Amino acid sequence: MNPLLELNQISYSYHTPDGETKALSDISFALAPGEFTAVVGPSGCGKSTLLSLIAGLMKPESGSMTLNGKPLTDNSDKIGYMLQHDHLFEWRTVYRNILLGAEISGKVTPEIRARAEALLKQYGLKQFAHSKPSELSGGMRQRAALIRTLLLEPELLLLDEPFSALDYQTRLTVSDDIGQIIRQSGKTALLVTHDLSEAVSLSDRIIVLSRRPASISAVLTVTFSLEKDTPLNRRNAPEFKTYFNQIWKELNGNE
Ligand code: ADP
Repeated sequence: MNPLLELNQISYSYHTPDGETKALSDISFALAPGEFTAVVGPSGCGKSTLLSLIAGLMKPESGSMTLNGKPLTDNSDKIGYMLQHDHLFEWRTVYRNILLGAEISGKVTPEIRARAEALLKQYGLKQFAHSKPSELSGGMRQRAALIRTLLLEPELLLLDEPFSALDYQTRLTVSDDIGQIIRQSGKTALLVTHDLSEAVSLSDRIIVLSRRPASISAVLTVTFSLEKDTPLNRRNAPEFKTYFNQIWKELNGNE
């Protein structure tokens, strides 16, 4: 199968008055359609930088990136980005927050409105459509933020620590919930997280980055022999600990 996203020897440095910070060094990988991949690595190694480059917010210093075989720069509208903070505006209702991306890109059509309503219903937020974001729980807010991202039918979802603003208990349920919604939607997803348990419970593959400048130190394929392969069931499966320890070792230089 042809990859959806392909990165070929991507490098990037920040230039500031204090000098140069090399953030990424020769990053190459490909994502198959429908695959859920997590990127883990030490704090400050370059994970967010990697997502910003794929989102088209910055340009790589060298290397190439393609989506469906075409240069990524021609395709950036096919990418949805979900961040740590849900960025829901309190002065807009949930429904109007969900339409925001479509409004900005001038795409509010009757079909888009109907799709927004269908997604709200599908993901259990219909009765909150005309509520303010502050009336929603942390989990419901993340669902709303995901619906806003899914509304424009991105082919690739970028998730930058989307659960890290939530408290631990909420985070477990919300990450499982959002992970399952993404699976059901069949989207290709690239998740950046510092939470190894989250990476193991949600993804098909885990890319482990080295310290800055980040290069790929390992790639693990994650498979569970579960009848019902859900994030929660994974957390309770015997393989979970094995994967966790394997990544932990990679991150700590195989000590
Ligand atoms: P991570 O997401 O893995 O924590 P980042 O991608 O945010 O790491 O940052 C990688 C490195 O690049 C860090 O050392 C950080 O200090 C540096 N960096 C990030 N953003 C900037 C910037 N705007 N200007 C200069 N250096 C930056």
